[in-house]
Amino acid sequence: MQSLETESELAIKKDQKYLWHNITPYSETNPPMIATSASGSWVTDIHGNKYLDGMSGLWCVNVGYGRKELAEAAYNQLLSLPYFPLTQSHLPAIALAEKLNEWLGDDYVIFFSNSGSEANEAAFKMARQYQQQIGQHYRHKFIARYRGYHGNSMGALAATGQAQRKYKYEPLGGGFLHVAPPDSYRRPAGQTVEEFNLQCAQAIEDTIVWEGVETVAAVIMEPVITGGGVIVPHQVYMDRVQEICRKHGVLLIIDEVICGFGRSGRKFGHHNFNIKPDIVTMAKGLTSAYLPLSATAVRKDIYEVFKDNSDDYGYFRHVNTFGGNPAACALALRNLEILEQEDLIERADILGARLNREFSELLDHKLVGDIRSFGLVTGIELVEDKVTKKPVHLDTVKGIIAKCKAKGLIIGKNGDTVAGFNNVLTFAPPLSSTDEDIQFIVDTFKSVMSES
Ligand code: PMP
Repeated sequence: MQSLETESELAIKKDQKYLWHNITPYSETNPPMIATSASGSWVTDIHGNKYLDGMSGLWCVNVGYGRKELAEAAYNQLLSLPYFPLTQSHLPAIALAEKLNEWLGDDYVIFFSNSGSEANEAAFKMARQYQQQIGQHYRHKFIARYRGYHGNSMGALAATGQAQRKYKYEPLGGGFLHVAPPDSYRRPAGQTVEEFNLQCAQAIEDTIVWEGVETVAAVIMEPVITGGGVIVPHQVYMDRVQEICRKHGVLLIIDEVICGFGRSGRKFGHHNFNIKPDIVTMAKGLTSAYLPLSATAVRKDIYEVFKDNSDDYGYFRHVNTFGGNPAACALALRNLEILEQEDLIERADILGARLNREFSELLDHKLVGDIRSFGLVTGIELVEDKVTKKPVHLDTVKGIIAKCKAKGLIIGKNGDTVAGFNNVLTFAPPLSSTDEDIQFIVDTFKSVMSES
């Protein structure tokens, strides 16, 4: 008699036959972890195993899993108006745009898309068209940083500064240049963190000048490089970058796709540095990833240039069929209310501080070179040798991650294999994590490190 396949065996078989997974080697998705349900910070797989999601999915489930109110907000909106294009308007988009303006704390106009990549693509097009329409016809170049990530599409990937994600797909969109990020852990001996950060900011001005001031449209950066290894700038860096951009008529685009919506301990990551970007892009935590939605927020006076030239075909020639879907907007609005009502933004700082206090003793571990953090994000850089700072082999990183998973904890890794850096472990649990959840992360990770 033929044996009956269990539900999980069948699902795995079909997964292998029909599904192409995102950016993961085949060996790591055979078999894949098939999630079936989730609640709070915990995800259950098809075998009934429970895991603490120490990465909030892909840094995005900020309010945690299983929020009935978010499902209801989307459901109610789908019943009344499931779709209408934003070539005209609808009420959830208006309400969310107003709310985002309040959160940004300044005068911005909002353009909706579906993903972080698309939000950045819109920003690039806005920046180029804006520069043209104020008579700066040659300003088409963008300056970004190595190790930064800005998305998967040809323009956003061109802005990305991680060779491993790019080299098989080149040539990408043209006009993107990169400078070194302020990776203070690897600063030259004898330099203070402040001096080093100022030098890194200076590299941006030097590039603007060498390229020709009149050819540069914008600088794009995350407030803190997250996916590229948790690289936290010093305040002087951000001040100086803003100053350089203003001095040279270059727009400053801040990519808040990960840092936004409380992850940094403030509403937006750039609020920690008290800077005023010209364009802010956001996604992930905007809906806590319950539905796809992203936004590009543009300073009002930049928008006015498009508005004023409208009759002269000076309007923004960009359309996104699904961008700003009414259900996604209604859900996002509710998501922002949850973040506010449950004080989750402040909680990110409290939990982050706790995590780091507990992790700080790991600095004595032979493999731990550096621990960096901001809000509720921690990056632990693993090295073979604390003096030379030679990164550990990727297998060591993968081994630690696998051991954590075997003990019920999902953590992430980041860096750039091609450039020889893939040695930063990352932690970014939901902002709604309980004290017990944080303790579980600490205990599990420490026990894995004690065996490593
Ligand atoms: N910018 C940053 C900083 C990101 O981390 C990401 C995604 N990890 C993106 C942009 C692209 O977002 P998406 O995957 O939604 O296109």
